[in-house]
Amino acid sequence: MSKNFKDFGLRPESLRALDEAGYTLPTPIQERALPILLDGRDLIGVAETGTGKTLAFLLPIFQTLEPDRRDPQALVVCPTRELAIQVADEAERFGRHLGVRTVLAYGGTSSGEQKRRLGEGCDLVVGTPGRLLDFLSSAWLTVRRVRFVVLDEADRMLDMGFINDVDAILRKTPMSRQTMLFSATFPDEIRRLVDRYMLHPETVRMHRGTKVTRTVDHAFYPVAARQKQQLLAELLEREQPEKFLVFTATREGTSELALALRRRRWDVISLSSLLSQANRERALTTFRRGECRALVATDVAARGLDITDIDLVVNYDVPMQPEDYVHRIGRTGRAKRLGRAITLVTEDDERRARDIERLLGEPVPRLELEGFTYEPRANPRRRGGRDRRGGGEGGGGRGTGTGRRGGRKRESRAGGSRGRGTRSDPAAPPRRAGGESA
Ligand code: ADP
Ligand code: MG
Repeated sequence: MSKNFKDFGLRPESLRALDEAGYTLPTPIQERALPILLDGRDLIGVAETGTGKTLAFLLPIFQTLEPDRRDPQALVVCPTRELAIQVADEAERFGRHLGVRTVLAYGGTSSGEQKRRLGEGCDLVVGTPGRLLDFLSSAWLTVRRVRFVVLDEADRMLDMGFINDVDAILRKTPMSRQTMLFSATFPDEIRRLVDRYMLHPETVRMHRGTKVTRTVDHAFYPVAARQKQQLLAELLEREQPEKFLVFTATREGTSELALALRRRRWDVISLSSLLSQANRERALTTFRRGECRALVATDVAARGLDITDIDLVVNYDVPMQPEDYVHRIGRTGRAKRLGRAITLVTEDDERRARDIERLLGEPVPRLELEGFTYEPRANPRRRGGRDRRGGGEGGGGRGTGTGRRGGRKRESRAGGSRGRGTRSDPAAPPRRAGGESA
């Protein structure tokens, strides 16, 4: 039963703007989020880029907004200036008939004009964490009348090291606010925000369909951890992909692998949160235009990457969450082109590989590269460097460094120990992203 926008009791001004845009049917996330948000409840939205999240939060905000007040009534926190601008544009476009006044607050430019506009009074402030916090601290921005707070792409904010700023901003907003958080993944730091700042939130999760697209031919390649780079190099030699995407678990892994591939004369760039925003955008553009052949990235860094002509996706590291497998390999084989997806599965990844197969409801073919001299895989380690996506993406500050190193040495002699994360290990890994047990 697809609902029409008219069925949600939206304000006539909002409906008029939707109508002018030619939007009559809500997207799936809008359809599910609107009733919850219009009811005043907190919401966690899990959905991919391009699913219409912006209107999912803007329309409910507009519903009770009272234009002409001096102080802002809603605050939208975004990881990047580009996203902030997009949200503000959408707010202008759909809030036009209500007379919604939006002010942008992002860093990297002089703050004079932004301050001036804040001083004139506005209804909605959209910005990036650092600048928002600056304005809050210097009292250019007041949030005492804020009734809605949106954290857009929260995991990206975490990835970019903004989590403490976000926390500080939330702390300053009134308890009575309605809080909405959008994120594709839920590392511990995001969970902590949710626990601390959200009240009985409803979760709306949109999967793009769990099954792997028919146009993707995917396989697991079992390999010993120490041979991963070598196997990947050989595979690439054979496949000779035109344009490919390689996923690693950590940003350190990203640069390391990119370097290794470059040494083998692959024209690759790495997309890591260690890059400045400008450099990230540049890297993406280069890849999109086909000026380099491959991109090595973490899930978070590659979020929102809408590039359709990729013919090979490589999971250099098995994704932590089985759902991510589907998302990652969904980047190839689009628009009816046949895509390939290759996943390197080490001794430590077997359990996760099985989780993926369970999610898919069918086994993934396991292939061997002919002519490759395989070394035997070791017994599963208690933990490996790859087991720390949550921490690795988190911009540090969690003291995972010791854990990382500790895991490396002794484990090979841990002999009979199966099962990673055994508690006796003083350097036990941080909990898995998503807080799954087991
Ligand atoms: P997300 O934040 O999930 O990445 P956006 O909110 O930016 O996605 O929406 C992606 C695009 O889809 C935007 O151009 C937006 O205007 C458009 N859009 C949003 N809702 C609808 C709708 N109900 N019908 C048609 N287009 C829509
Ligand atoms: Mg968005």
